[in-house]
Amino acid sequence: MLKVENLNVYYGRIHALKNVSIEVPKGQIVTVVGANGAGKSTLMWTLAGVLKAKSGTITYNGKSLPASAHDVAAAGVILVPERRRLYANLTVRENIIMGAFLRKDPEGIKKDLEFIYSLFPILKERSNQYAGTLSGGEQQMAAIARGLMSRPKILLLDEPSLGLSPLYTSEVFKTILQIKAQGATIFLAEQNAHKALEIADRAYVLETGRVVLSGSGKELLANPKVQEAYLGVR
Ligand code: ATP
Repeated sequence: MLKVENLNVYYGRIHALKNVSIEVPKGQIVTVVGANGAGKSTLMWTLAGVLKAKSGTITYNGKSLPASAHDVAAAGVILVPERRRLYANLTVRENIIMGAFLRKDPEGIKKDLEFIYSLFPILKERSNQYAGTLSGGEQQMAAIARGLMSRPKILLLDEPSLGLSPLYTSEVFKTILQIKAQGATIFLAEQNAHKALEIADRAYVLETGRVVLSGSGKELLANPKVQEAYLGVR
């Protein structure tokens, strides 16, 4: 289990995360929802070891996460950042394989690539195309595929539905459930609160850097405050 306790993160004088505590149990989907600027990406980048917290602890199975982003990735905590960040001039296959850069088991890599192509048949079709030629939805799938190639223990997904059509959004959420079914643990940040809460075992609402509500996905979906602020229900 990944456990965050009393995390405080600053950008200069901006206090971006304020005493944030969350738990991501093994094998579950935990989601954090919140508006633009609430601090979701900051939380993700801090978990990934890129941003440093001023105070607070992040532990994985009771041990502190390593200090460097590289070592955090090696420990199996893998970030799929917002806005994809693929290499436009490499092929789709090359981008996906890049996720396996820390691995030394060619047979396993081959098997995982086949599994990933079964999750995302469109990526198989387009495997020799430059990533820059993919649609937004396809790029998002390739970014998730790249994350999966590292055999993550915990997959951190930052706004996977950002900029996607409703059809692709549904595809991406379906895939997240399939990844969970394989035994992965998923921490998901989303502005698309409805979809995210539907698939979440546990969920947190982040407002201006603070956790203001938490509960099961179902509980938060039924919560009038969440409905009003994030689900467009009045
Ligand atoms: P979004 O959905 O827009 O990415 P978010 O919930 O992920 O929003 P963050 O990007 O984590 O929110 O931003 C949290 C707060 O930190 C915001 O007030 C933002 O303006 C501020 N912030 C983010 N990045 C920086 C930065 N590099 N320098 C200064 N302030 C920043």
